[in-house]
Parts: sequence; C-alpha cells; structure tokens
Amino acid sequence: MAQSDIFWTYDNSTIKDYFPYFLRENYPTFKFSFNWEDFPQIQDYLTRLMFNSFSNSSQVRSQLPELIHDVEMFFAAGLMSGIFDNNNLPSILNNLKDSRNGFRIVEFLPPELSGVFGNSISNKIQINERMTRHGNSPSLTAEEIRRLYMFHEMGHKILNILSQGSVIQSFIRTIGPILRSKGLSNPDLNYKEFVKDGFWMIEECLTQELAEFLTYYSSQKRRPQFETRRDLGCDIKTNHDYYGIFQMPTINLGKTIRGCSKINSTNEEILINMIKKALNSNFTLELISEYNQGNAQLYYDLFLTLRAMGMVKKQKYASFGIGRPINGLNVQSCLNAIEHITRNNRDLREYPENGYPSIDFNSYQNPPSDSMGSFGQR
Ligand SMILES: [Zn+2]
Repeated sequence: MAQSDIFWTYDNSTIKDYFPYFLRENYPTFKFSFNWEDFPQIQDYLTRLMFNSFSNSSQVRSQLPELIHDVEMFFAAGLMSGIFDNNNLPSILNNLKDSRNGFRIVEFLPPELSGVFGNSISNKIQINERMTRHGNSPSLTAEEIRRLYMFHEMGHKILNILSQGSVIQSFIRTIGPILRSKGLSNPDLNYKEFVKDGFWMIEECLTQELAEFLTYYSSQKRRPQFETRRDLGCDIKTNHDYYGIFQMPTINLGKTIRGCSKINSTNEEILINMIKKALNSNFTLELISEYNQGNAQLYYDLFLTLRAMGMVKKQKYASFGIGRPINGLNVQSCLNAIEHITRNNRDLREYPENGYPSIDFNSYQNPPSDSMGSFGQR
C-alpha cells in the first residue's frame, strides 16, 4: 500500500488536524491562492493532493506548489465561468478522488519524457516543467501553456465518456446484428476498436476544449479565432493548441445532440454544452439514446460517425508514434463522412423535459440491409 492510501482514507477531523501541521512544517511559505472555506470538499481535496504529491512523488521540487496553484485555478475558473456548479461538482470531485482512476499526485515529467506536454498514469498527472511551444497559442506564456496541459489531463479525469465502458460495450454489442445485416461478415474488422476510439476522440476534443476555455478564462485573454491548418494531409479548421483535427467532427456531432446547439450557436457554445453534459455521468448513454429511436438507420449512422472518428483518432495518434497507422486510410474521406452524416441528423431541439426514455439495447434484431460504408482500404 502506498503511503498516500493511508492518509487518503482518514476521516475529516484527522485530515483537518494533520494537514495544516504538515504544510506548516514542510512548506512554511505555502498558501492556497484562493480561500476555499465555502468549498470545504475542494479544500480537502487540494490539501490531500498537496500532501500526496510531496510525500509520494519520486521527485520533490520547489516548484510543486505552482502545480497545486494550477489545480486551484482549474476549480476557480470552472466555478467562476459557470461550467462547474453545485450539480456537477460532486461528480467532478468523486472522479478526482477515485482510488483507482483519480488524480492524487501531481509532479513534473521525468527528464526522459521531456518531449511531451503532459501525461496521466494511474493516480498521477505529470506535467512538463518547461513548456515553450507557442505556435498555435501565440498569446499564452510558458506558464499558461503548462496550465493548459495540466487542465487537459484533469479534464480526462472528470469527463465521463471513456469511463462509461459498460455503456460503450452495450452499444458495440447491439450494433452487431445491424452490421451483419449490412454485409459485414468478417469479425476481424476492427469496428469495436474504432467505436471505442471514436468515443476517445470525442473525449480528447472536449478535454482540450475545457482546458483551452479555462486557460484563456483564467488568463483573461481572448481565445484565438478558428483558422485553417494542415494536418494528416487535410485542411482542418480549429482554434485548439493541439488535436485540432478532432474539433470540427466533435462540433458536428454536438449539433445532433438535443440541448447542445441552437441555430445560431457558436462552436464554443456547442462544445461547452457537450462538456456540461459530459460532467454528468450519463453523457455516453445520452448520446447513444439520441440515435436509439427505434430506427436502425439512425443507429447505424451513429456507428458510422464513431467509426470514422475512431479512424481519424487512430491515424492522429499514429502520427506521433502511438499505435500503428491504418494503411491506405483516406482521412479526408473520414472527415467528409462525419460532416455529411451529422448534417443529416442535425437536431435543434431542447433537452427533453422528462429526460430520455429508457434505452432498449435489444431492439435491433432485424434491421434493414444495405451496403456498408467504406473509407478507403483497410
Ligand atoms: Zn488527452
């Protein structure tokens, strides 16, 4: 058992008695940037994070308090901007405190990993100490870039998308009969992996959007305009520092989800509405419910969208050395397919007043058949 596990589970009175002493003794100059008295759960979390980071990290550095201040800023900007509120704060804190996947230690990246911005392994978030690349974010200082990537890693912890594995599995299971009816006979086609990667792409984009939003908000700087960039041989539109190729597909998907987009909604509004949904634990189920309306073609459309997204994600990751590229994949045709399918499924309705009807994953045993969409050779 790691040392921090003992303290993590102590009751509140013990924490209150112990931690101020620990901080006073070891970090006599440390002070939180904000007064968290009105949010005792956040204060408690930050204190534990401080303790765990200093006592459990392999490296003790004098700048560690700066990283704790970044985490404070994450909460402060989230609350002040209205993205975090009393409804979603319990879920946010639960995810961060989760003993298996939560975020309990922050540290700087070990020198051998200094080529990446941030990293999240088990309970640790590791951040590059020197972040100097400003190419896509010219107005941010090196410190703000560091914060951007801290916020990004935190976003992964609190957005409930990939963590809803059982819902994703149910979708993959129930899409099977539809795929077979459409002539997908080879079980080796990696559609399961692509669907999961599709959800991954959505989480990656929303995580980046949350990080960008909170970084510019806390820096009181104007966000960059959308601009055209080249990536994976395609012209893409984005205002993100990184993962820009995921942005328009995610926005287009957001336009098909009730309550995320009105006719005049900006791209930022659509993404923020998606983020607010993903801060509640049922977002993945809600997304599937949007397409699970007893219409097999609609359900199949969601599959095609997620599969194309998964392929783009896989190709993007392969471009920086994670995983193998898909041979012969035409990324542009994936992006076109996502745009085309989502445009047909645009939904401007408000969120249903009484929530969604409960989902029946077994309603697609006898779907109609036609040929399977294809994005180049696999
Ligand atoms: Zn990420």
